[in-house]
Amino acid sequence: GESVGEIDYVFKLVVVGDAAVGKTQILARFARGEFAFDSKHTIGVEFQTRTLTIDRKRIKAQIWDTAGQERYRAVTSAYYRGALGAMIVYDITKRSSFDHVARWVDELRSHADSSTVLMLIGNKADLAGQRAVTTEHAAEFAEEQGLYFWETSALSGENVDAAFQWLLEEIYAVT
Ligand code: GDP
Ligand code: MG
Repeated sequence: GESVGEIDYVFKLVVVGDAAVGKTQILARFARGEFAFDSKHTIGVEFQTRTLTIDRKRIKAQIWDTAGQERYRAVTSAYYRGALGAMIVYDITKRSSFDHVARWVDELRSHADSSTVLMLIGNKADLAGQRAVTTEHAAEFAEEQGLYFWETSALSGENVDAAFQWLLEEIYAVT
């Protein structure tokens, strides 16, 4: 374990997006290096943490999970309060989850701070054969919306650590 004294900053992050896009698995991958193949009965915990070093500072990422509250407008403002960064996740094989990203951006822009760093995540990149949203289309949308964009796979781990590292560095740079 690590003592409180070893931590320089705690950064709150939130993860939003439709149900079943892989939010809980992305957190499990980042915080514990795990992927649970049978996750349908796992009850989401409030948040996961992992401590990283950026610019020789120990930064504890405290990442909140919606834990089954994905219904539109069901996420409370307390969830967003104090969030320095947000990941809006869709599933690259599910077009509707991408079409709903704009709603999540609206939710974030109305509840979170204007300085919150927003990141669009296209998850399940390992299922490229079932892709329903092209990388180019998502990248173009992200640019229009002023979002940073990465594709990840919680299953293979591809880009998960890199995306969080990047988000935390970005927050560190603007904080
Ligand atoms: P949440 O509702 O957004 O929290 O989604 P979950 O994390 O519970 O994942 C929903 C389903 O998608 C589960 O069956 C996961 O095993 C699966 N899943 C999550 N991430 C990935 C991924 O990167 N690749 C694949 N192939 N499946 C994934
Ligand atoms: Mg979940």
